[in-house]
Amino acid sequence: MSKLERRITLAAVIIPFIGFITAVYLLWGGAVDALDLGIFALMYLISGMGVTTGYHRLLTHRSFETKPWIRAAFAIAGSMSVQGAPIHWVADHRKHHDFSDEPGDPHSPHTHGRPGWRGVAAGWWHSHMGWLFSRDERASASRYARDLKNDPAIVWVDKLFGVWVLLGLAIPAALGYALSGGEPYAAFTAFIWGGLARIFLQHHATWSVNSICHMYGKSPFETGDQSRNNWAVALVALGEGWHHNHHAFPTSARHGLRRTQIDPSYVFIRMLDSVGLAWNVRRPTEDQMRAKLRVPPGDEQESADATDPADPVVAADERQVVLR
Ligand SMILES: [Zn+2]
Ligand SMILES: [Zn+2]
Repeated sequence: MSKLERRITLAAVIIPFIGFITAVYLLWGGAVDALDLGIFALMYLISGMGVTTGYHRLLTHRSFETKPWIRAAFAIAGSMSVQGAPIHWVADHRKHHDFSDEPGDPHSPHTHGRPGWRGVAAGWWHSHMGWLFSRDERASASRYARDLKNDPAIVWVDKLFGVWVLLGLAIPAALGYALSGGEPYAAFTAFIWGGLARIFLQHHATWSVNSICHMYGKSPFETGDQSRNNWAVALVALGEGWHHNHHAFPTSARHGLRRTQIDPSYVFIRMLDSVGLAWNVRRPTEDQMRAKLRVPPGDEQESADATDPADPVVAADERQVVLR
């Protein structure tokens, strides 16, 4: 991939985002106000945490444990992001870890090998949104999410997916109406921003984890795939942009493994932990992280000696990835 190709791809992602911010600035006081943005932020956090902490770190990877009603609440909140019902979301994501960037991965930018910038664009499109329109490589829930298919609360949430989507649109409208003192127009603009615009932006935040975080960023660990840490995606996806760390330690509740790697989803898990609503929160130790660091050229032998093959968390991670 040439420098020019990388820049074109990045521009295609960043320019529409800058356009959106500009639209908000231009519309200020007209079609959007502080109440709309407040409701937008609240809804973004609720449905966002539903996906990152609920669908992903809890239901897919079991990186912590919690009470059954909190599992169900996370699944409902995640449904409001309109990324699919929880059981199929989990199945596709487990298959992604199982085949990371190899044939069989439902959304890798690297499995549609075409040369030049056209290949880069096709890979980006497929991993970002294109895979959603294809049945190829999608996961079987019976094979990849049997545990959830046997969980009555999750099956109940899954069946009522459409209800939660409508609820995610109704809540911002109701909040806009109530907090404006009964203004129907405020209900409408809150519905647009806290409902539709929020879903649009959250879609792209999550999809960027699948596309950008397998293309651009740093990859300090030996993972055997093309996953990357990307701080910009981490910012909009509530910590999920530390995706390479996540591929290195899939069952870790913490994705931002360094102090500077901001990870709001892990902060939220820590908050639940501190009030007794989360336990068995998994994260790698410093030694385990050091053992998985990429070997600098020339140091292969030394590193092989230092790596403990019986590393319990790494071994558990490898088991955890294939949850059939
Ligand atoms: Zn990935
Ligand atoms: Zn994952």
